[in-house]
Amino acid sequence: MNQSNDLMGKIVSLCKRRGFVYPSSEIYGGFANVYDFGPLGSLLAKNIRDLWIKKMVQEKEDMYLIDGSILMHPKAWEASGHTVAFTDPLIQCPVCKKRFRADQLEGWQLKKDNQTGQWNILKQGSLICPDCQGNLIPAVKEFNLLMATEVGSVAGEKTKVYLKGESCQNVYLDFPLIRDTMAAKIPFGVAQIGKAFRNEITLGKFLFKVREFEQMDVEYFCAPEESDKLYAEWKKIRFDWYVKDLGLSESRLRWRQHSSEERIFYAKDAWDIEYKFFEDFEELEGVHNRSDYDLKQQGKFSGKTLDYFDPISKKRFVPYIIECSGGLQRTFLALLAENYREEMVKDDKRVFLKIKPALAPYKAAVFPLVANKPELIQKARSVFNLLKPELMTFWDDIGNIGKRYRRQDEIGTPWCLTIDYQTLEDDTVTIRDRDTMKQERVSIEDIKNWIREKLE
Ligand code: ATP
Repeated sequence: MNQSNDLMGKIVSLCKRRGFVYPSSEIYGGFANVYDFGPLGSLLAKNIRDLWIKKMVQEKEDMYLIDGSILMHPKAWEASGHTVAFTDPLIQCPVCKKRFRADQLEGWQLKKDNQTGQWNILKQGSLICPDCQGNLIPAVKEFNLLMATEVGSVAGEKTKVYLKGESCQNVYLDFPLIRDTMAAKIPFGVAQIGKAFRNEITLGKFLFKVREFEQMDVEYFCAPEESDKLYAEWKKIRFDWYVKDLGLSESRLRWRQHSSEERIFYAKDAWDIEYKFFEDFEELEGVHNRSDYDLKQQGKFSGKTLDYFDPISKKRFVPYIIECSGGLQRTFLALLAENYREEMVKDDKRVFLKIKPALAPYKAAVFPLVANKPELIQKARSVFNLLKPELMTFWDDIGNIGKRYRRQDEIGTPWCLTIDYQTLEDDTVTIRDRDTMKQERVSIEDIKNWIREKLE
């Protein structure tokens, strides 16, 4: 096994062992490529979402947050082109029955007709099945990724609806309501974190490609003539988020522009932010200038005009949209891949997550030195109760202190507080740092400020 596969394996194992990510429906043998965030994963995911909202909404004055429903009028998906054109090119191995995306097989080049969803083969590549080495037949089928369900309670009168194939569509539908209820002046943007569902063909990359995931989207509405300038600004904002706010290393991030074959016909420009998760650079977020296509299409199908009247220039126009669409699961995986550390401490292997304290699931852990001394337990409980209302704090009185440190290291807790016999005398505790393992004594009345300062 090479090093990067090894790292992926270690992360998958850590995620399950320490309650970050569980396979969905495990007692039934699991459900392919659907996962649950466990207690630790839910906290990490929440911290990512909260930070994203803080940076994309709270610290800006022209951004509005919405939280749209998963179910929408089915016509919206006709207007967007998803019912016909949201396809991937499928090749199925006749021997092992495994399914592949033809555009990801070695040497293949295909181009999608975005009106019909049909994939045309530009260059046929390898016909060897990557899994069983059997012979593939070069028959490419269009595979629609949308998931459908039904609403209504009377059999035979149910309406087919779609689960969101991409989370952003309802932002376009809500555009006139946001414009009017918020008296929003262009340029302005709408931020949304929402679920998306896709019948993906190629699976098996842990959280990287799943059937149900969350997208963190910015849809920024602007005048057509301003879109190039604002597009450049948003590219910078989004790249900075990964480097400065999340702490991903710049050397593992890069921009990739969509080729003319790949770029959707209405997009003015399209770049992806890619991250080197393990071996290869792969997409983390798409930042696209989508022109006025989305609002025009939804306007055409709904019979409404989705436009904007500029009170200064007295011009009426259909806004352009700059879209920044990133995935929560991929961000989560990137943070684990970036921060997973192993080091030898004497003869012992120490695993720790060197994640930014602001993102760590728990900020602090409180340990009484031993579990059978009531005075120590009582004192430790008072420290725990002091911190709990302000910070996610973990209580642990099981096993020796060394083992308790290791448990917190693995889940990324930056500071472990031990209440010992000296605490009973002078009201100080030891605070042990996750990364350096250094300890210092801090008086109980100063702990909150000490942590607050480190978190800033
Ligand atoms: P890819 O080609 O890598 O599957 P995409 O181009 O289909 O991605 P978009 O439609 O641009 O992805 O979606 C925006 C973001 O949503 C992606 O950059 C990614 O972070 C996330 N995303 C898309 N599909 C999935 C998936 N199946 N599982 C997890 N995250 C996903």
